[in-house]
Amino acid sequence: MSFKIPLFKLNFDEQEENAVVATLRSKWISTGPKCKELENLFCDSLTRKYGLTVSSATSALHLAMKTLKIGPGDEVIVPSLTFAATANCVKYVGAKVVFADVVSYDNLNIDPDDIERKITENTKAIIPVHYGGFPCNMDRIMQIAEKYNLKVVEDASHGPLSEYKGQKLGAIGHISCFSFFSNKNLSPGEGGMFITNNEEYFNTAKLLRSHGMTTMSYERAKGHATVYDIQSLGYNYRLDDIRATIGIVQFGKLKEDYAKRENVRKQYIKELSDIKEIIIPFKDNEEYVSNYIMPIVLKDSSPENRDALREHLHKNGIQTSVHYPSVHKFSIYHEKNNHLPITDYVVDNEITLPMFGDLTNDDIHLIVNTIKSFYTN
Ligand SMILES: *Cc1c(COP(=O)(O)O)cnc(C)c1O
Repeated sequence: MSFKIPLFKLNFDEQEENAVVATLRSKWISTGPKCKELENLFCDSLTRKYGLTVSSATSALHLAMKTLKIGPGDEVIVPSLTFAATANCVKYVGAKVVFADVVSYDNLNIDPDDIERKITENTKAIIPVHYGGFPCNMDRIMQIAEKYNLKVVEDASHGPLSEYKGQKLGAIGHISCFSFFSNKNLSPGEGGMFITNNEEYFNTAKLLRSHGMTTMSYERAKGHATVYDIQSLGYNYRLDDIRATIGIVQFGKLKEDYAKRENVRKQYIKELSDIKEIIIPFKDNEEYVSNYIMPIVLKDSSPENRDALREHLHKNGIQTSVHYPSVHKFSIYHEKNNHLPITDYVVDNEITLPMFGDLTNDDIHLIVNTIKSFYTN
């Protein structure tokens, strides 16, 4: 079935096409000057020293764990209301994933109080996820990290250019990660970014990104180096210049796209506010944000009721999603002793509505009226 109103739309035009053709004609398509340019765009806007393009946010998160020397016996605190990759990276290095609950039905970000409750002598790091691009309480999280000597890895996959008290997301923790998967704000199809201010972390991550090799092909091709050594067991987590090219064009479109998304969100809030069965998370947000998604949480609801409303929307041509099924309930994580009551309610009663810059007021009106008709029937 094709939906009348899809969940999201790629913001592509001939600019991306022309840029890709130019890169193809340059005859350099693997990691090279375009990756460097994209890294510089991120570093400049975040005012961070080091950026490393990688193949995905998942590889950036894995490199973050390796860089921080997290391994067996260590614990890392993550939210369960996230994409599985946030937790999987901890398992990749043999450490234990410890889940923390979110703050409330209004604030779907990790709860600093629950983080603090879950700290043990084995805790090494926290991975806050800025849900939907709305900032976590980074003041509290950085205070806790300092108090217990923990490292903070921001999973900023939803929030390039989003802000927290005037600082960009991804510019606050010790390391941060962004995703360029096709449904993210900046979407060359696949890719990611590893950001830090720490030179040692950057050098370690750069080595591991490309097999632990001391020089890269681009440097060799440019005549800067002729030999290489393998100093540690690395991976192939590189991004290519074709995707980086698309990323550069997309980066330049973010501000305009965010202005449109901001209007879409305002219109949604205006129209949804008189439906008493609905909570709009982050309703009072005043930060500059990416508005990556438009989540709603149903009040006094159940999974059956939520699914019935989604079905009603789908029948009327409106695509929706759920962000997210909780990670702690997946088979590889399932343990009986997880107490995450707010997360458990949200995953059963959240619906993600369509969100993209070109969504019109008529579209929004139709979506909201379709929701209203579910409650009046
Ligand atoms: C998409 C996403 C990831 C994974 O990104 P990839 O680039 O697909 O590896 C990680 N964390 C969050 C919060 C995400 O939304």
